[in-house]
This record gives sequence, C-alpha cells and structure tokens, in this order.
Amino acid sequence: MKKRICILYTGGTIGMVPTDRGYAPKPGALAQYLKAIPDLASPEAPAWELVEMEPLLDSSNITVREWRAIGQAIFDHYDRFDGFVVLHGTDTMAYTASALSFMLENLQKPVIFTGSQIPLCRMRSDGRDNLITSLLIAAQGRAAEVCLYFGGKLLRGNRAVKRSADGLEAFYSPNWPPLATAGVNIQYDAGALAKPKATGELTLAAFEPVPIGVLKVFPGIQFELFESILTERLRGIVLETFGAGNIPDNGKSTLLPLIQRAYKNGTVLTVCSQCAQGSVHLGTYATSAALKDAGAVSGQDMTTEAAVAKLYYLFSKGYELEEIKRKVEENLRGEIS
Ligand code: ASP
Repeated sequence: MKKRICILYTGGTIGMVPTDRGYAPKPGALAQYLKAIPDLASPEAPAWELVEMEPLLDSSNITVREWRAIGQAIFDHYDRFDGFVVLHGTDTMAYTASALSFMLENLQKPVIFTGSQIPLCRMRSDGRDNLITSLLIAAQGRAAEVCLYFGGKLLRGNRAVKRSADGLEAFYSPNWPPLATAGVNIQYDAGALAKPKATGELTLAAFEPVPIGVLKVFPGIQFELFESILTERLRGIVLETFGAGNIPDNGKSTLLPLIQRAYKNGTVLTVCSQCAQGSVHLGTYATSAALKDAGAVSGQDMTTEAAVAKLYYLFSKGYELEEIKRKVEENLRGEIS
C-alpha cells in the first residue's frame, strides 16, 4: 500500500508569488504550483495531501503561536498519515524545526521541514527537488524524528543552521553528521539517526511566549548599556560567547555583576558559542570560569536556535528553576552530542 504523506504549507519562498513589494505568500498559489510538477503524480510518489496554514507567512514573522499551530496540525493529522513534510520559509526554519523537536513528545513518524531559496514559480527553483526528496524520505520512514532536508542533505532539525542567504545548500549541521545524503540513492547514516522509540503516544507539549533574550558579546562591549535589558523580566538568556564560552572580564565594564543579579532573580543563563563548530567548556579559561561561578549553565554544542527553543520548552513545562538548569545541559532530543 502507498504511504500517505501530509504536506503542511506554512508560507515561505517555495510557494510565494512576486508582488510590487517583493515576494510574498498567497493562499492557493502553492496548490497551483504543485499541479505543474509531474513527479508528484508519478506512480513512484507516495500519496500526499496538501494542508495550507492560515495565515501563510514569511517565516520572519513566525512566532510561538505559529509553532503551536504547526504542532497542533501534525497532532490532528497524525493517525491518518505516515509522515509529514512541512514547507516553511528558510529564514527561521531551524528555529521552528528545533521547537517542534521538543514539542512533539514521543514522535514516531518523520517530520521533514523543507522549503526553497527560489520560488516554484521561477526557473531553476530548488523547491522541486527539496519537496520531492522530502516526500520520499517521509515515506521511507527511516528518520522518525524532526528533520530538515535541503540541498541534498537530511539534517536533524535541532542541529541545523541557516548558513547562506543565497546558496542552494543553505543549511548545515556543524556538530552532527547529516542523517542522510541524497545522491542517486538516499543514503542514510544509521549511526546518526535517532534510535526508534518502541512505545508511547504522541503528545503535544505546551509552548508559551516566555520572555527570552539572546545576547552576543563582542570586543569592547559596554555591558552597563544592557543592564536595563538583563532584568528579572527575562526568564531565559542565551549568551553567545567567544570560543569555548569566554567573555571579556577585564576593564571597567564587566558582565559578571549583571549575571550574578540575573541568577539571583531566577533568570536561566545558557552559554552558547559564536563558533559554529565545537562545544562550550566553562572553566577551560579564566574568562569563562566566572560564568560558571555566577550560575550560568553550559549549552555545550547546541545551536543558538536549539537553545532558544529549548528554553521556551522547559519554561512552558512549568519545571522548577533547578530542574530547568539541569535539563538545559541534558540531551533531550539529540540536540547535544
Ligand atoms: N523570507 C523567506 C522566508 O523565510 C525566505 C525563504 O523562504 O527562503 O519565509
């Protein structure tokens, strides 16, 4: 029997139309584009159905509300389909894929995010291969986790980073091997894929618009200018530090008093690195030891995208502060090596 795949269109370049203000999504346009792709009607293709979200968005406009709507749509259609292809704008695709990896608890079917850099209505659109290969991957069922397929590579969703604004291999996964590579055949890397889960019903974790901030340090940063931002109103902060977790700690402007205050106020500070590859190791250098002493937690080799999504997830779960800090450092969905 043919596998059944649900294509969920959330917006993004793949189905956009040209307007006098630039490309924008338009209800119904994608359905027309799909009719013009003969491969989608091939006997080799799985059976598929298109579900269009409302409103369709440029992914720059996606928020926690849309993450919830995407999760809900997958949950509502879960029993009728063998897998899901989520068409999404590339700009924030890695954030949404990360969020859904946490939200969909006990997921046992493939959820493949994809999109394109060139819309389907244009010549040379990369959307055709991205969509068709994602459909096949969803139907093959080997990657029963939230993934992102783009430019020939299947990546774990919460490991993916958008690295190019115009290249067709727009995503990479700096700290985890691709789950599969699509050449003449789709070659899976069994060691990289998540281990199949034997039991458990799909559940949808709550996601709330918790106040979260991301702060990138840079040479000469005047931390006192950020004092009004780093208050107890922020429940979680992702700090993008140098190298293995280092921050400037000399000069008259230092971050530590702010961090210590944030810590006392119950803000969870997650330390990530500005380096795409490698891991945070608090305490390797004196310039990071103080962060550890001040109660910050290590994001290890998590992407900033995954760290942001994980903070939303853990706070929305209603855990105690100490539990949140423990879980930030724990590998929950393959987001940490
Ligand atoms: N701005 C678009 C979006 O993220 C870019 C894209 O889809 O490639 O929706």
